[in-house]
Amino acid sequence: MTQNQIQHKIRDNWNKVLDSIFLIMRVYISVTVFAAFLLPSCVAGFTERRCAMHDPNEEEKEKALRVMELHKNDDETRTQKFTVPTYWHTINKGKDGKLLDATIAKSIDILNKAFTDFTFDVKDITTTDNGSYWGIKPGSSGERSMKNKLRQGGCDALNIYSTDLVSGLLGWATFPDWCAGSQKDDGVVILYSSVPGGTAAPYNLGDTLTHEVGHWLGLYHTFEGGCNGDGDQVDDTPAVKTSNSGCPKKIDSCPNDDGKDLVENFMDYTDDSCMDSFTKGQETRMTAFWKEYRSDGSPPPPNPPTPNPPTPNPPTTSKNPTQMMNVQITRLSSKLF
Ligand SMILES: [Zn+2]
Repeated sequence: MTQNQIQHKIRDNWNKVLDSIFLIMRVYISVTVFAAFLLPSCVAGFTERRCAMHDPNEEEKEKALRVMELHKNDDETRTQKFTVPTYWHTINKGKDGKLLDATIAKSIDILNKAFTDFTFDVKDITTTDNGSYWGIKPGSSGERSMKNKLRQGGCDALNIYSTDLVSGLLGWATFPDWCAGSQKDDGVVILYSSVPGGTAAPYNLGDTLTHEVGHWLGLYHTFEGGCNGDGDQVDDTPAVKTSNSGCPKKIDSCPNDDGKDLVENFMDYTDDSCMDSFTKGQETRMTAFWKEYRSDGSPPPPNPPTPNPPTPNPPTTSKNPTQMMNVQITRLSSKLF
């Protein structure tokens, strides 16, 4: 090999090395740029639960306490649940947001398992392809037109809107006492991808809907008011300093208050896989709010007959009509408006 050939060979090899270095750099830069653009849109907003429920003010809190007081001696010997006529509105934008009937059925099933005193009975499912109802936030014109167009039923009817929400929000709801004054606004809005099997991990097991329906039936967050005051106004939920996330074990954020944080409660901000229950006190509160603001007045169905009903006692003197009327008037006047 001549001197020239040797030099040529060395140059060739050096060029190959440089090519390889440039190729590696190009791949690295491409991957970095791709990740920088793509990743935030995939994960933004889902590093924490974000419910856009408005914080109750002092007047609302006092009114809520009066409702609890009014219903504290209610006869709760019934064993049948209250039936909630339920309307599911799926909003999509082209191919985005569409839900299978099986997914909606699974969502309702999760809801029915979570609530002890209520059965959610689906009356209608609607599907609307409308970009102006997509990417909405509370109080927006998109939300208003969506609800004006689609809402069905009275204040006892649960209207669920599944759509895309802005700012990483997972959902929001309206409190029961708002319904009489603005029935069209009443309902629950959830992020479409928070349904079971959706893409909003770790909030994709269907519990966002349960959380929002908790608000719809009068519940506050367990961390409402922090460590001071009445908190969420429920006696058997210990005070929580601030929202919990993930699934922290054995956390006691308000040591001066009895009991550890109920991180598994549906009304905290923990992951779907962490939350699994309401307390008895929360169930009592939801029943009181249902009766005060949402029930159409019809009682729950009668208890099923026992297989061997006891022999009835002989009739005693019947109630006179005036007594019966007084009972009805008392019941009506106990309503808060
Ligand atoms: Zn909430």
